[in-house]
Amino acid sequence: MSDTLLEVDGLDITYRTEAGDLKAVSDASFSIGSNEYFGLVGESGCGKSTLADAVMRTLDENGRISDGTIEFKGTELQALSEREFTEQVRWQEIALIPQSAMNSLDPLKRVSTQAVNVAQAHTDWSEEKAIEKLKELFNVVGLPESRVHDYPHQFSGGMKQRAIIAFSLLLDPSLIIADEPTTALDVIMQDQFLKYLDDLREIRDFSLLFITHDIAVIFEMCDSLAVMHGGQIAEQGDTEAIFDDPRHPYTVLLQRAFPDIREPKRDLVGIDGSPPMLEADIDYCSFADRCPWAESECTMGQPPAEPVEGDASHEVACIRSHEMDELAAEYLDGDEDEPDATDESGVGARESDVDGFDTVDDEQPVLELSDLHKHFSASTNIIETARQKLFGGDGANAVRAVDGVEMKLEDNQIQGIIGESGCGKSTLLETIIGLNDPTEGEIRFKGESVSEFGKKERKQFRQDVQIIFQDPFNTLNPHFTVRETLREPLNVHDIDYEEDRLLEMLEEVELTPAGEYIDRSESQLSGGEKQRVSIARALIMDPDVILADEPVSMLDVSTQASILEMLGELTDEYGVSMLYISHDLSTVSYICDRVNVMYLGRIVESAPTMDVLDDPKHPYTRALLEAIPIPDPHHERRWAELMGVPGDATDLPTGCRFKDRCPERMDICDQRPVFDDVGGSDHQTACHLHTGSETANDEIAEDDETAVRTVSDGGETQ
Ligand code: SF4
Ligand code: SF4
Repeated sequence: MSDTLLEVDGLDITYRTEAGDLKAVSDASFSIGSNEYFGLVGESGCGKSTLADAVMRTLDENGRISDGTIEFKGTELQALSEREFTEQVRWQEIALIPQSAMNSLDPLKRVSTQAVNVAQAHTDWSEEKAIEKLKELFNVVGLPESRVHDYPHQFSGGMKQRAIIAFSLLLDPSLIIADEPTTALDVIMQDQFLKYLDDLREIRDFSLLFITHDIAVIFEMCDSLAVMHGGQIAEQGDTEAIFDDPRHPYTVLLQRAFPDIREPKRDLVGIDGSPPMLEADIDYCSFADRCPWAESECTMGQPPAEPVEGDASHEVACIRSHEMDELAAEYLDGDEDEPDATDESGVGARESDVDGFDTVDDEQPVLELSDLHKHFSASTNIIETARQKLFGGDGANAVRAVDGVEMKLEDNQIQGIIGESGCGKSTLLETIIGLNDPTEGEIRFKGESVSEFGKKERKQFRQDVQIIFQDPFNTLNPHFTVRETLREPLNVHDIDYEEDRLLEMLEEVELTPAGEYIDRSESQLSGGEKQRVSIARALIMDPDVILADEPVSMLDVSTQASILEMLGELTDEYGVSMLYISHDLSTVSYICDRVNVMYLGRIVESAPTMDVLDDPKHPYTRALLEAIPIPDPHHERRWAELMGVPGDATDLPTGCRFKDRCPERMDICDQRPVFDDVGGSDHQTACHLHTGSETANDEIAEDDETAVRTVSDGGETQ
């Protein structure tokens, strides 16, 4: 590449704790050239953010660089005083886009005021100059310059992200460190963020240190990368060289743990275990406990980083790197050549023999939603809210979170519901499980209307329909052991059980040996282990239906793969049906028989998974597919063609709700499209490009809400 900008050499970072000194980063070396996008990738706790903190001097008070150097443009940063670093480096030379960037703006100050404060803390700029520069950067990142004086709460999440990029560019730094900038974003917002970063390369000279757990994003965005595990750099080099010829076992497995939407039938490979706890010294290969090819020699000192033959820039710290081709082929043998979509492993685009909407009339769906609505009052007036409770109605500006959903879930079927944040998918699950009362419509369970259940049937329903929540870190009772967590629902439902049943269930969710987990408290479990306990708690009730609310989105990719695989296997083994919601079509595609795409409270496309992947009909579905990062640097990126942000559920447009963002909008889109069959009897969408008789559309245009019933009465969905 070009001139070296940042050079990290032999870096050790140590934390002083009550248990003594613990090393978080061990002998890390890498360099970033000017105008280079460099990725640092690895699971949580591998030390990558600690490295960024060391560069930015934001290590916790008990952390220090215990060995090695960080040079920036030839100057050793540790040799600078705090004042020199602030005056010469921070913001002006190196700027940071922090984790949770959307929350890093001060909510009490206008964006322009915050920019002026940053500029004047590091330069002698006038207020006018700082605001002019901010306006210029707002144009660069696609924000209207008229919004520079807004408060952060006046921005959507995506706009805040762009404002943060503008901030990071304010003083023309040579290097931007972006620390997990996309982790909290859904797939469309992530796509837009990455596009801005990509576009910026054309108009600005700067380098990027992109830190993430998402190797697909790194493969797409970066010229070169380093893979980190347990505080050590495992492998580094040009992105294409590492993709084509990964030499470290961790890189090989990480690559195979990631879903690739182009190969939904490919099995995912989980990585057993988790990165090691911090120790006084990491004088062994930190991947040894998880490595399928570990030998006794691997624990005799930290393997040195050595160049791969024929490519001096590609370095690997593994004593068996020269054998990796054969070892990986043997280990992963069969997965690539003969993918088996109906394999009982359950992962790899399930193709169940369950028929779709139109062919199940003779069978009873286990769960059926008919014209289901859940609207929330947006009124802050107590009297108005009480009146609505007493007499019904939504009042003005009601939030129509779920707005006419039709769905049939068959026995042993996994259906996905996918859409951006705010599309109503979580509210839909909460309404099914009874956390919300439906505003309108019906939920039928095994043919019976849930609203007509008496006390006994309702209790049985709560046993038969279980939910797994998104956040494993906040869903288990911190005061309970695993044993108490599993006992609790059994006791609530007066179900007799033997203690062995608890152990069996832990074995089922691969917490083995179960005896070692049963008495652990919540704080003694990793995120993945907590989610396994949540799954065990749901399955121990022997449910008919599981509602899974983004169950892997907060987990590292290595854990995601094994949890997805396990969920698929267990639903088959227990004959459970599942509604699986996510914003990520790639994980949905691996586990679901059928996919429903939801936008502003309504299902806009529904079809068997492979039909959605091969031939998406609705422009929104196509955008969701295009937004998925492809873990392949040779793949030419197509950014999602999508305008704006999701509409406001309190002020919905007439006609097609997607029209303000749709690149294919036509005049007729001011009329609401019916949800109708396309391309076969089992594929439905709501888009004028594909569906809708003029009669139905005319009815809908006359009276949108009446038309919901008109269409439903006529046998159409939604
Ligand atoms: S050094 Fe040994 S344990 Fe470490 S990655 Fe290589 S083979 Fe595996
Ligand atoms: S109905 Fe019109 S606006 Fe809506 S998705 Fe189809 S083409 Fe786009």
